[in-house]
Amino acid sequence: MEKKFRKILVANRGEIAIRIFRACSELGIRTVGIYSKEDKYSLFRSKADESYLIGEDKGPIEAYLDMEEIIHVAKKKGVDAIHPGYGFLSENPKFAKMCRDNDIEFIGPSPEVMDKMGDKINSKKIAKEVNVPTIPGVERSISNTDEAKKIAKEIGYPIMLKASNGGGGRGMRVIEKEEDLVVEFERAVSESKKAFGRASIFIEKYLKKPKHIEVQILGDKYGNIVHLYERDCSVQRRHQKIIEYAPAFSLSEEVRKKICDDALKLAKHVGYYSAGTLEFLVDEDENYYFIEMNPRIQVEHTVSEMVTGIDIVQSQILIAQGYSLNSEEINIKSQDDIKLNGYSIQCRITTEDPKNKFMPDTGKIHVYRTGSGFGIRLDGGNGFTGARITPYYDSLLVKTISWDRTFKGAVRKILRSIKELRIRGVKTNVGFLVNVLNHPDFLEGKCDTKFVDETEELFK
Ligand code: ADP
Repeated sequence: MEKKFRKILVANRGEIAIRIFRACSELGIRTVGIYSKEDKYSLFRSKADESYLIGEDKGPIEAYLDMEEIIHVAKKKGVDAIHPGYGFLSENPKFAKMCRDNDIEFIGPSPEVMDKMGDKINSKKIAKEVNVPTIPGVERSISNTDEAKKIAKEIGYPIMLKASNGGGGRGMRVIEKEEDLVVEFERAVSESKKAFGRASIFIEKYLKKPKHIEVQILGDKYGNIVHLYERDCSVQRRHQKIIEYAPAFSLSEEVRKKICDDALKLAKHVGYYSAGTLEFLVDEDENYYFIEMNPRIQVEHTVSEMVTGIDIVQSQILIAQGYSLNSEEINIKSQDDIKLNGYSIQCRITTEDPKNKFMPDTGKIHVYRTGSGFGIRLDGGNGFTGARITPYYDSLLVKTISWDRTFKGAVRKILRSIKELRIRGVKTNVGFLVNVLNHPDFLEGKCDTKFVDETEELFK
């Protein structure tokens, strides 16, 4: 029944590629890396057992999006499965289907489920079908400004325009009053076409100060599915996550449980397998609303691993091979087997300059010293002495993750670790992160998604 993988190709780069190589090595599976010409000197490339240049005549991003060439390399090198990581091809059902058609296992959900749940409008519709609360709005693509105006009036301002296939905090616009709607709607349409290939814009009520809470789930191919509790990802800058932690201790037990149960219900309903995340917003009165599903591994999966002890990436690989959750290899017999232990926080250390609007910085790293020690995990890959930080990719340098029995202890550990960091040659956001971690609102778990954008002292 299980099909043992001998070789896995990782269709990604940087820290997540290394994270996946490590999971493979521990499972005794050989790894194949791919890299663009811009990544010729990147570290991740040498962490694979073998690696191949792709997209020689393509741009730095396009290289990693070249489905035909990636499949070609995979076939030529006798690869059993492809792990897409996050970003790039990870949410592309066409790629998952191409893998299947070429007899290569795609490590993720089925293309059909990905197609259904990867689209924000569609997944909201499905959530409504099973009575999982969603933000008031309309679950269809709005075709013109008159229709947009009518709907916005019904919902009441402020509203949010969203691209159904948007991601990474892009493709969203907040509209405070009707006068701005026409211009913004047209902008949203043209931007969405450019960034995501098509314009499918919908409208929902804009929540003023929500918390972003998301639930990690893990399911096998036989209908067994569990959640690994929730993460609080409210510390965001312009809708992009900066610091994440687990569990979301500031919410009531009752609401946390309801959110996790609803996430599970929804994932079960669509027959989800592999790892996935269901995202929710929670308002000041603890009303919660499902906003979208990410059918892939996420940057912040680490904190859930730390508090549950479950290796999510290894589980994904085992599930793809056909192991059930209750197999000896995965060993999750039921939801009760998943116990929360302590607290974990993740900071994304980036090569951005907080004093200059977080502009990405580039250059050669002259000094790179990290702060490990008890309770610290570093998932990196782009940073080392002599590394060149290029402008071509995202500016994530290293993820610093802490674990402790208490939240305050986890804060102390992560602060100690990032203060120990010595990075010279490129600017980083460390000073800014220290300010956030030291803020009383953060220590009490009070930050909402607006906290960073509205707290000027963090940028000093
Ligand atoms: P993406 O797919 O780009 O990550 P999401 O739908 O997950 O977009 O939303 C990202 C962030 O945008 C949320 O965490 C939240 O901060 C903000 N957001 C999304 N929808 C709303 C809304 N209706 N009201 C207020 N904030 C929202």
